[in-house]
Amino acid sequence: MTPRCRHCATPMPRLFLDLGHAPPSNAYLSAESLSEPEMTFPLRLRVCDDCHLVQTEDFAEADKLFAHDYAYFSSTSKSWLDHAARYCATATERFELGHNSFVIEVASNDGYLLRNFVAANVPCLGIEPTDSTAAAAETQGIPVLREFFGAALAGKLKNEGRCADLIIGNNVYAHVPDINDFTLGLAIALKPQGVITLEFPHLMRLVEQRQFDTVYHEHFSYLSLIAVSRIFAKAGLRIFDVEELPTHGGSLRIYGCLETAQHTASPRVDALLAEERARGMANAEFYDGFQARAEAVKNGLLRFLLDAQRDGMTVAGYGAAAKGNTLLNFAGVQPDLLPFICDAAPSKQGKLMPGSHIPILPPEALTQRRPDYILILPWNIASEVRNQLAPLAAQGAKFVTAVPEVRVE
Ligand SMILES: [Zn+2]
Repeated sequence: MTPRCRHCATPMPRLFLDLGHAPPSNAYLSAESLSEPEMTFPLRLRVCDDCHLVQTEDFAEADKLFAHDYAYFSSTSKSWLDHAARYCATATERFELGHNSFVIEVASNDGYLLRNFVAANVPCLGIEPTDSTAAAAETQGIPVLREFFGAALAGKLKNEGRCADLIIGNNVYAHVPDINDFTLGLAIALKPQGVITLEFPHLMRLVEQRQFDTVYHEHFSYLSLIAVSRIFAKAGLRIFDVEELPTHGGSLRIYGCLETAQHTASPRVDALLAEERARGMANAEFYDGFQARAEAVKNGLLRFLLDAQRDGMTVAGYGAAAKGNTLLNFAGVQPDLLPFICDAAPSKQGKLMPGSHIPILPPEALTQRRPDYILILPWNIASEVRNQLAPLAAQGAKFVTAVPEVRVE
């Protein structure tokens, strides 16, 4: 049976990307679990020919993916903390937020963003189902509801008189399985003149820059402004402004409000919709051929690793992030070609990458083992990593990124 679009229920025969079977990207393994079977799930994206929403294909037992307590803490990235602080300052000024306002952040993680509102005396609430990160936010004085956001929770907040002047969703919109229910929740939990801001990776950049490694099971939707405008409209919302951000390889920050609200529409919205159409994002042809581009990236990485091995050069990875898992599993890279990956997060150290079973070590291992090449897997923070690891470069190590093609510097 042809899968149907999660937004508009149109059958979707068109395949956008097939990465085979992969384990959940955040299912890091302990050494003991290597004696157990490892679950993998199909990782395929389809595109809806009607609303142009690119989405993961559903499969049986998807709930098994969420059995893990995710180890990702937003505050471990300095550049992301700075990004959040700048956003809070700008939003506070633009929307005149103060001690009588109410801000909600969906997927508030460890409080990396809301702590800025706490510091500015703007009342706020985090919504975060992951226990470990929610607990970290609470220690900073941020109230957190440990639940998933959707229309049901939004209705509860509304009944309690807790509608928001500002609802923030950073890197959560693409991760919700039921995008219609989530969007409806945004509309329900908003004050009549309230503002929604969402940040998500821009599909236009993903295709252009061959960022297929941002695809993983928990990342359900790959979004264009064309698709999001339609999803918002169905929930009684409209987009009145949009910014293009450099984060995550090219993201959009959209500003939404109720259709009836008074926010003036910025010309940037129509301009970006026109650009997406000009690039063909409203046509099926745009989505064909991405598979071949992903395979070219994979082959480039394999060629680099094999050449390095032949030449007697050593390679280590840096950044045990989800992106790395997608790339390494699609390419079939194992410890023989990439013996270890360093990561600054203590929660990942001592574990193994899912699928590839490459050990994760603390960054000090780079100083001890002195690899010739350091493959930076999260290319979106490559310059930050290069700065941190500058002393190794001074000793001769070269940095490598694999997407959109292998680059050595
Ligand atoms: Zn659709």
